[in-house]
Amino acid sequence: MQTTRLRKPIALLLLALLLLTGFGCAPQGSAANAETIEPIVLSTDEPEATAAITPMPKPELKYIFLFIGDGMGAAQIQATSEALAAAGRDALSFLEFPVQGSVKTASFDGSVTDSAAAATAISTGKKTINGYLGLDSDKNRIETIAETLRNAGRRIGILTTVSLDHATPAGFFAHVDSRRSYATITDDLFASGFDFFAGGGFHSTPDAADRAVENGYTMISSFEEAPASTEGMLILSSKLIFGDYGVLPAIDGGARANWLKKATDLAITRLTAPEGFFMMVEGGRVDYFCHYNDAGSFVAELLDMDEAIQSALAFYAEHPQETLILITADHETGDVSFTDGDRAQLLKQTISSDICDNTLVQECLAAKTPFEEALPLFANAFGLDNLTEAETALLKEAYTKTFFNNSPGNSDEEYGTYEPITTACINIVASRAGVVFGSGGHTGKDVPIYAIGVGSEFFAGSYENTNIHDTLLLAVAAYPFS
Ligand SMILES: [Zn+2]
Repeated sequence: MQTTRLRKPIALLLLALLLLTGFGCAPQGSAANAETIEPIVLSTDEPEATAAITPMPKPELKYIFLFIGDGMGAAQIQATSEALAAAGRDALSFLEFPVQGSVKTASFDGSVTDSAAAATAISTGKKTINGYLGLDSDKNRIETIAETLRNAGRRIGILTTVSLDHATPAGFFAHVDSRRSYATITDDLFASGFDFFAGGGFHSTPDAADRAVENGYTMISSFEEAPASTEGMLILSSKLIFGDYGVLPAIDGGARANWLKKATDLAITRLTAPEGFFMMVEGGRVDYFCHYNDAGSFVAELLDMDEAIQSALAFYAEHPQETLILITADHETGDVSFTDGDRAQLLKQTISSDICDNTLVQECLAAKTPFEEALPLFANAFGLDNLTEAETALLKEAYTKTFFNNSPGNSDEEYGTYEPITTACINIVASRAGVVFGSGGHTGKDVPIYAIGVGSEFFAGSYENTNIHDTLLLAVAAYPFS
């Protein structure tokens, strides 16, 4: 807690120093600073020397990316990272960011947070009650960072792989005391005036398309429909959705592949403008699959978000003196830890537990497929080569239970239950990979934050999630642009 109290004074002192000296710190230390300072120091005595030096442009914080992996704790990142290494694939794009920190996530009363209170803390700088969005603990409306930056003239984008009215995206535009008040959340979305939304559908707004038009938005359901003009407000409400109105799981591929990256690319195209932008991009389903203890699927969701981060990094490479990229999470889900195992197993699964239940299991039930014929289908879908006798016995028992429907699979208060055969498959994947789930819910673990670019230096250290909001405003003030 001490670091929390100290952080703001230190940050304000830094800001005062910056303003007094008239210089913004270059993102990664002294090299650029020295070049910026030298011509001024030399100019009085050695005017000729200035001509030989090309000053670096002064950093201006114009473009801000905030990536939130829902449920993406340090262990989720470690699992993905080790799986990539074990498979000989490229590392995650953000692990080497020059600034890293640690974020405390508890909600207002010290409880393990939900996504609503966490999004509100990150977006407003105020801790609140679980379930509240854009309200403090006394239900007073509080401005979000997206609203503040919109009012300052920036273009705003909110992107997610879950439904557009889900807690994390809603934490940036909604003001309501229940994350389940989907109608109010949708009203707030249409009233936000934000320039771009991309995500799944809406829970309780069958007339969303009409409402969008009434509120000045163009609404599309695929990338192909994106208008050529980048002016005007746009909502991409994907048609690639399933039960919970979110975009289909990343692991199932097909038309869903690279969806978040494409949405991020579209956001960059639409939002890049002289007035600058702020975009929040959520990898929303890491959490979902950690609730379900489906390790292969959460790893695929994290990789999916990493592809979108790579788009942000490509933009950063073109605008290094104007861009800040932050990667963090709202909380950890699943209490993930590790034992010995082959992490590469996590990359062999090619079906989510949801789609397995909805397709493979249903097909086997309809055709009354005997276990011996069904086994290779499930083994193939989950990447389970060379099944041991013990694994085969487990799968046979689970398959029988699925047929006679007499035993629950993994169950979760909010998310429900999978078929026993599906649960047995994801349990074997996790067991082979050495990934252990301690729970099916959120935990109070700190989450990491990674930063690169203009103002990134302010994000080092250990602090509360509310400081992300405060520090973003500090960075914006430290690196103004004209
Ligand atoms: Zn959750």
